[in-house]
Amino acid sequence: MATYRELLQQVKGEIDEIDAPDARARHAADVTLFLDIREQDEWDEGAIPGAVHVPRGQLESRIEGLVPDRSREIVVLCAGGSRSAFAARSLADLGYENVSSLAGGFTDWKRNGFPIELPRTLSPKQRSRYSRHLLIPEVGEAGQQRLLDSRVLLIGAGGLGSPASLYLAAAGVGTIGIVDADVVDDSNLQRQIVHSTERLGEPKALSAKRTIEALNPDVEVKAYEERLTSENVERILADGWDVIVDGADNFPTRYLVNDASVWHGIPVVHGSIYRFEGQATVFKPRLPGSAAGEADGARAEEGGPCYRCLFPSPPPPELAPSCAEGGVLGVLPGIIGSLQANETLKLLLGVGDTLEGRLLLFDALGTTFDEVSVKRDPTCPVCGDRPEITEYIDYVEFCQPSASQSADGARR
Ligand SMILES: [Zn+2]
Repeated sequence: MATYRELLQQVKGEIDEIDAPDARARHAADVTLFLDIREQDEWDEGAIPGAVHVPRGQLESRIEGLVPDRSREIVVLCAGGSRSAFAARSLADLGYENVSSLAGGFTDWKRNGFPIELPRTLSPKQRSRYSRHLLIPEVGEAGQQRLLDSRVLLIGAGGLGSPASLYLAAAGVGTIGIVDADVVDDSNLQRQIVHSTERLGEPKALSAKRTIEALNPDVEVKAYEERLTSENVERILADGWDVIVDGADNFPTRYLVNDASVWHGIPVVHGSIYRFEGQATVFKPRLPGSAAGEADGARAEEGGPCYRCLFPSPPPPELAPSCAEGGVLGVLPGIIGSLQANETLKLLLGVGDTLEGRLLLFDALGTTFDEVSVKRDPTCPVCGDRPEITEYIDYVEFCQPSASQSADGARR
């Protein structure tokens, strides 16, 4: 039977090893993946910049998700070069063709004075709370950090804003803004699940804040107990938002949100509901006046549509249904608002294909999803080539009963 030393010698004879200066040269060239297999507490104290961390015990189960390309050049490292030697052989057994182990490990790298960084890490509580995210390669620790650093503004704490805010908060979106001027009414509770019977009469923005902060103490909620207007929109946007979730139920607010988001370059995740029908899409238009692909060669397309590309101006008041008439099946905003949360998380994480350029239509009676392709209109009054609208317009409110900004009864 072999001793540990004999086994280590044998394994080292079967794998490729590189020394720290060689690894440093590869690191500078920025094509090699540095795979750090040390334990969490070792990683927390310092790491090679850009290295990917997978503790040794999870290496075999996670590597295929992390590195699907088996020809990728990988340098495995641990503290001293022994664990990484065994890991390198495991990777070879899994079919990875281009793996070397860093001889002397992180200790030797550090001794040579090569660059290190202190990784930002999740607390043990956060690691437990978000464990189901950490298990998905597309999220992982870096993605979870990104969510915690993200800022999402919700327009309306009503039917759509309820599920959207709850799921975004549960996912660990670190800062959530909520704009809503209403108070909780008993007719809201059939669908607005972020509120409750004991909150009747309480401002919706504050009620939602209480529910969200009870759900996840990592989340900071900025409550705006006001109706979005041309007077306050710039002040609210100045707080800095990565994505806007539009759960407004009225045209003046929708147009205001659209124009502001185009001018500020903030993507909008749009949702609307009426009776048994719901719609969702993502508006991510280019900044007006920027020639296609000018700012970023990699994004040479001309940008998606905005709300006004689809509906240049509001319908006349007599054709718009009033809020009071706008019945809705209670679960419908749950479905559409959850889709909005899904689109938002993808935008924040930079994964998947969003609904940009696609309007998703849901019919709750038939349980069918359809989608129509929507394109940027070069003659759009806001995001088009020669924009006519360059200042905020306060449209006349034709959905007056309580000047509601909650998310019921929207219809275009
Ligand atoms: Zn447009």
